[in-house]
Amino acid sequence: MDKVRGYESASFEAVAIPPPLETSLKKSDSETHRSPLPSIPHLTEKEAREALLKEVSTRCCYGKTAARDMAITEIKHSMAFHYTLETFTEKRTTCWAFGPYNGGPVERLDSGEAPFPWDIPSTPPSFFKNHTIQLEVPYTASVKVCHVCGGPGRKRCNTCSGKGYEYCHHCHGDGFSPLALRSATKDCLYCTGSGQRKCWKCGGEGMALCKVCSGTGQIRCFIRLTIKWTNHMDDHVVEKISNLDDDKIRNVSGEVVCQEEETNLLPLTHFPDTTVSMASAQLLQNHASSFPEEKVLKQVTNVAGAFGFEVQYVNLYTKKMSPVPKWMLINIH
Ligand SMILES: [Zn+2]
Ligand SMILES: [Zn+2]
Ligand SMILES: [Zn+2]
Repeated sequence: MDKVRGYESASFEAVAIPPPLETSLKKSDSETHRSPLPSIPHLTEKEAREALLKEVSTRCCYGKTAARDMAITEIKHSMAFHYTLETFTEKRTTCWAFGPYNGGPVERLDSGEAPFPWDIPSTPPSFFKNHTIQLEVPYTASVKVCHVCGGPGRKRCNTCSGKGYEYCHHCHGDGFSPLALRSATKDCLYCTGSGQRKCWKCGGEGMALCKVCSGTGQIRCFIRLTIKWTNHMDDHVVEKISNLDDDKIRNVSGEVVCQEEETNLLPLTHFPDTTVSMASAQLLQNHASSFPEEKVLKQVTNVAGAFGFEVQYVNLYTKKMSPVPKWMLINIH
């Protein structure tokens, strides 16, 4: 193949081109613009009781009196956070490609300088959605004689190996009609006794159209650039609520307590709960090292919160303590 500056490694297999190193990494300014977090709501005893009654009414096996007659001895507040990180990247691969040449203008190799793979402008149709496009790199094309047929646009028919005819399956090649029909005529009706039939593919010519050049005898070679946009997503649930599984928190519609979108996000540091900051730092670090062949275009982080409380109560009649402290999740409003 021709040598093209900047595409020396191109072959017929796709080769990933790592993005050029950013000389001056732009630091995110998200930290300075962080909006304050909503404060954790504090439940009064009345609100706790109302929430409990509401919860009890959804379960037929729980007695309402238990909630109404109890004396709340302790309310513990806590929050659960669902942290998500999305990193939207772009990957560029190149390879030599070819197709039939049907005439028309060609951006030939010698008529201009091919731009480097990462200098070709392109914008994704939408951010944070997977998408792939293919482009022809300008000034990499050339017209060549078809390497399959060698120029005539036709090649030996594969079906009949160029003979133009094939064996008649109806008479097994002997030219006689099957035994049951012998009384009518001796010759096979399908091949009129010859035992051979015209090749269905080439019509008896023994030659077929070359698919590679579509019969033109010429092919157009060029370097193809494939741009693949991928949205990588990870999440982490931070919770101190013992009896809840993570999926329950993932499914809580929750209130978005923090959302940031930047080219390069910085770890969250303004959460009172350090486990949120640690999760954010860990996932950002994973994403920073996991896609070395891809360029990060944008990152978005989202923290949804749910508020929970645990109530310990005493039944005023039986003087019994609540069996197990009970956690409930309600959305932050
Ligand atoms: Zn050909
Ligand atoms: Zn026959
Ligand atoms: Zn044939």
